[in-house]
Amino acid sequence: MERIYIGMGSNLAAPQQQLRDALKALAQLPNTTFAGVSAFYQSDSLLSGQPRYTNAVAALDSTLAPLVLLDALQAIENDQGRERLERWGPRTLDLDILLFGDRLIDEPRLKVPHYQMHLRAFVLYPLAELAPSTLKLPDGRLLSEVLGECPFVGLERLRL
Ligand code: ATP
Ligand code: MG
Ligand code: MG
Repeated sequence: MERIYIGMGSNLAAPQQQLRDALKALAQLPNTTFAGVSAFYQSDSLLSGQPRYTNAVAALDSTLAPLVLLDALQAIENDQGRERLERWGPRTLDLDILLFGDRLIDEPRLKVPHYQMHLRAFVLYPLAELAPSTLKLPDGRLLSEVLGECPFVGLERLRL
């Protein structure tokens, strides 16, 4: 079993319900145990003119291979009406693999850790609810260190 953290996001078609539906789908993945979810957080889109995002992070313990998990996550995105019209366009559901055990993965379809996770408050703050602050990112930095460099600005933590 490896511990996997999934970054979840939505800004279309009832975002909080999209995340709840996605959590149910994650809990049903084969060879996988659902290990928890952060609170939901809202923030303005990084791109102007898009609806506000709701984000969360989920933890899974799984024996799935990384690309098999990626396929499963993309199938869940598609089931929930994800359309890929433009890069970083508004979306019903985004499921990104943030961390996969302590693996470094550099494949055409999959880069882990997620290339921008250390810069995104809407990833790091929910992740910190689930992961120990002593968690080391694959570059050797502590989660607590990266978090300290990423201000909690523009984020709104929703009540559970
Ligand atoms: P960003 O990656 O900046 O968060 P995005 O999530 O909107 O943007 P997507 O359109 O969801 O990007 O995905 C584009 C491609 O990224 C996918 O087809 C997938 O193959 C690839 N990809 C690479 N690394 C990862 C990862 N760690 N998790 C999910 N997808 C990844
Ligand atoms: Mg993304
Ligand atoms: Mg994505």
